[in-house]
Amino acid sequence: MQYFKLFGINITRRHFLKQSFYDLNYSDLETVINQNNLNNSAAAVLFNWHYKKKENTQCHDKIAKSSLAFFQNNFDFSLPEIDTVHESKDRTVKFLFKLKDNHKIETVLIPFHNKYSICLSSQVGCAMNCSFCFTGKQGLKRNLTTSEIVGQFLQAWRWLAENRPGEERILNIVFMGQGEPLHNFDAVKKACEIFLSQHGTSIGVQKITISTAGYIPGLKRWSLEIPGVNLALSLHSPFEEKRNELIPINKKYPLDEVLATIDKIPLNKKQFITYEYILIKDFNDSPDDAKKLGTILAGKSAYINLIPFNSFPGSHYKRPDLDKIEKFKEVLDTFKIPTLIRSAKGDDVLAACGQLNSKN
Ligand code: SAH
Repeated sequence: MQYFKLFGINITRRHFLKQSFYDLNYSDLETVINQNNLNNSAAAVLFNWHYKKKENTQCHDKIAKSSLAFFQNNFDFSLPEIDTVHESKDRTVKFLFKLKDNHKIETVLIPFHNKYSICLSSQVGCAMNCSFCFTGKQGLKRNLTTSEIVGQFLQAWRWLAENRPGEERILNIVFMGQGEPLHNFDAVKKACEIFLSQHGTSIGVQKITISTAGYIPGLKRWSLEIPGVNLALSLHSPFEEKRNELIPINKKYPLDEVLATIDKIPLNKKQFITYEYILIKDFNDSPDDAKKLGTILAGKSAYINLIPFNSFPGSHYKRPDLDKIEKFKEVLDTFKIPTLIRSAKGDDVLAACGQLNSKN
């Protein structure tokens, strides 16, 4: 009977559903190769082919026929299918991907000087149920696999190569799409390992940011398991009651405990934590809100991202006027915390922060 070894377990072809090649990080791939007595050099060749060259054909490059046949027979090389693409006037691109079980997720390419940041989803829907977020209205359907996360990047890259040739440069990765990335820690961690691998896409560690609503079990694993990758916290209010309304998991993992957990994460000299703050009209946009926010973040390696609320069908919150937003920033400036007002990109195609909801 034909079988192969995956992490020491004999897998027979009869009961084997092919595993995605894109679920393997580099060391998993080396393990598979060693356990099946294939040539060691195949790992670098395959990673290079699929992640550096980003080819969508089978690898025929410097690889033994037997190794090639082994991978073709035992691994699945398909990626999430592009269902629809929306291109915004500002060149933001929103992809709707169809997964094998017909669930859909969204991914956004955000342009800056003919290069792109990619905003990846980590779950189908989200369990956090934040009151200001369109994705939360869907509820959590399931976690994404590593291959579905990495696949968003590869498919978006290939779309750029085909539709905007010469612009296929995705230099930043942010986990700010659908889902709570720290709620799907293992798959997100493995995707980061693949992105960081020198044999693969070789993205710089400082170019990846994971955003969380403050899921403490994930934050506790952070410093040991994904050091160097940037962390962003969705803070949104320094006041307990307001934050409870915005982010229900604040009741289980209150902000002061979240901040204390984050403070324990070792940062290198140039590194800082990004604190995201959605500005909602007449809710959390007063000078008192800004003062309290400045007080709790003063002295930390912090960077504040002010995100004027992006509306979506059925939302009851509103975006404050620009002068109110600027006044909020002025108060924070007195605390000497670097603060940026983030401009909304892609909101004409519902691709801005919090507007992703793949049911629509
Ligand atoms: N679950 C993670 C990542 C997804 S949300 C988190 O909570 O951080 C990514 C960012 O978009 C977060 O800062 C989130 O608060 C913000 N966001 C969500 N809905 C928004 C909206 N309607 N307008 C502006 N920003 C929004």
